[in-house]
Amino acid sequence: SLRCSKKKSAKNILDFAQIGGLSHHIKTLRELIIFPLLHGNLYTHFNIKAPRGVLFYGPPGTGKTLVAAALANEINKENLGKVSFFHRKGADCLDKWVGESEKKLKDLFEKAERSSPSIIFFDEIDGLAPVRSQRNDHVHCSVVSTLLALMDGLDQTSVVVIGATNRLDALDPALRRPGRFDKELYFSMPSTEARKEILQVHTKTWKHQPSENLLNHLANVTAGCCGADLQALCTEAVLCCTKRLYPNIDKIDGSLRVKIDPNKIQVEECDFM
Ligand code: ATP
Repeated sequence: SLRCSKKKSAKNILDFAQIGGLSHHIKTLRELIIFPLLHGNLYTHFNIKAPRGVLFYGPPGTGKTLVAAALANEINKENLGKVSFFHRKGADCLDKWVGESEKKLKDLFEKAERSSPSIIFFDEIDGLAPVRSQRNDHVHCSVVSTLLALMDGLDQTSVVVIGATNRLDALDPALRRPGRFDKELYFSMPSTEARKEILQVHTKTWKHQPSENLLNHLANVTAGCCGADLQALCTEAVLCCTKRLYPNIDKIDGSLRVKIDPNKIQVEECDFM
């Protein structure tokens, strides 16, 4: 059986250690983003090009947002330099007033350049830059053109843009031309081995880790689950076990005030099933 403890991961910072099954992506991002941001002088000296943008695409819950958020923390944690991180949801950059969305974007890029090296992350970027021909909406066209112009004008070695989408086909193709989002990284549904690593990540703060056998078994029976599903599975297992230990915990009779001792909670195989 496994036991939960209060022990938290080192400082509880979201870094690459909190990500399972994506070691290839992490390696690629070290090369594509971290290296150029930290060694801009090399690129300037030899007049070589670093990617301006990297596009993350793939089904929901596969770790796109997680990886982007961990990226800046990872650089800062390793004391490699201070990288600013700007996280925006695509649709949040849109404004109902004419010209305001474009202004928001310009302000964002200016801010990123002022505090460079920086990473701008547009989650659900298809909401911001949908295929222009599919909309007869001049306002949207203008937002996409502004984004393209801003990316074209970027100083490549100090600001990098990451976009994430579930629907590559919904994104304006002009964004995928060289010099814009010139690298694309696919986040697939996790393999059996990747699911095992994700489960390890989500149980690693528990006092007693799940046995190798249990992890293998869970990884085998969760085909078709994404990282978010596996995280939900671990949450459910802990809550299920807590309710078993404290049967009256959800009764509305004052027992809600019962103090739960996480050290007493032992998550067993049946709680996962
Ligand atoms: P969407 O396309 O819906 O925005 P996403 O690909 O951005 O999804 P995330 O938001 O990164 O997915 O993942 C949701 C949650 O699932 C994360 O907060 C994390 O807890 C868990 N998760 C997903 N992938 C992984 C992974 N590879 N390792 C560890 N946890 C993961």
